[in-house]
Amino acid sequence: MSQFLNPAFRTLEPYVPGEQPREKIFVKLNTNESPYPPGRKVIEAINAEAVQDLRLYEDPTNRLLNETLAGTLGISPENVVSTCGSDEAINLAIMAFGHDGLAFPDLTYGFYKVYADLNHMPYRTIPLKDDFSVDVSDYAHLGRMILIANPNAPTGLYLTPDRIECILKENPDHVVLVDEAYIRFGSESVVPLISRYRNLLVTRTFSKSHSLAGARVGFAAGDRDLIADMERIRNSMNPYNISRLSQTAAVEALREPEYYNECCRKVAETREWTKQQLKDLGFEVTDSRTNFVFAQSSDIDGAELYRKLREKGILVRHFNHERIRNYNRISVGTQADMEFLINAVKEVLDEEKNSADQQKNS
Ligand SMILES: *Cc1c(COP(=O)(O)O)cnc(C)c1O
Repeated sequence: MSQFLNPAFRTLEPYVPGEQPREKIFVKLNTNESPYPPGRKVIEAINAEAVQDLRLYEDPTNRLLNETLAGTLGISPENVVSTCGSDEAINLAIMAFGHDGLAFPDLTYGFYKVYADLNHMPYRTIPLKDDFSVDVSDYAHLGRMILIANPNAPTGLYLTPDRIECILKENPDHVVLVDEAYIRFGSESVVPLISRYRNLLVTRTFSKSHSLAGARVGFAAGDRDLIADMERIRNSMNPYNISRLSQTAAVEALREPEYYNECCRKVAETREWTKQQLKDLGFEVTDSRTNFVFAQSSDIDGAELYRKLREKGILVRHFNHERIRNYNRISVGTQADMEFLINAVKEVLDEEKNSADQQKNS
């Protein structure tokens, strides 16, 4: 840290993303990327002509992307702001609406706390129940902005729209941000509710369901006044917030919905297969509705399993949070990736058992 750093940022603890390894990893299951490539239309559109156009700034209103998104979602373009990943949408929303403070679950996406600290917004964490579910009665009259990832990460658990509506009704004077990063893997969105709740803001991303994590495109949908507020801040920070190539990729992805629906369907199918295999091996697995599974076993320590898998060339995500120390979050890859994983888990459990037996006998 230099002597010049603003004291306001001296205690800031940045978000720690999942590792992007340089060495050979056979199966990367640690950051919830899609195992499938972007669709044909995206690959065709990022061509020499598109690259030549890079000499020009893109449209600072992101009009084509907003319109295409609005068309897909059945809302109007004034109800959408496009952002550099949904992370930017979350940050813009916190800047715009978080001044009375924030509330979010104790176990959720790690960036909420980081953005709260970055913007000097106080926050309160609300413990999930023992089974990791959200009790919506804990979110009544909180007097502050609420952030709910639905489905939640890293638990994978999902709240139905009627539960979200309870939170919206109980907090009419504050924005409720519903982070739908994982909604496309088999859950119901609350986007249709935005016409009825002026305090509802929904964020989504192309990173997971549309195989575009590296393009950094996301958006928020909500009442037009909320969106205008966020545009005000976006235009005060970076009106060219999504690169030309990324906008092209996102628009083309929206023009080929069947392909991405099929990718998400395959991921959900492989997820269910993986859950069952892990259960058969004695793991406790949450009812994840996302593109990851969240699992623990009483036969092996979570950090130990993480390390042993890594030695076998499989990268998963382990969090050092007290309540979930024994768990690992495992992204869903292709069926072949997950067969490789399950075999490796079996080997690790066998090795564990053998060394325990040896210790007993010696
Ligand atoms: C991955 C993720 C995001 C952000 O993804 P972007 O790549 O910035 O769009 C937001 N919320 C949750 C819960 C996530 O898991």
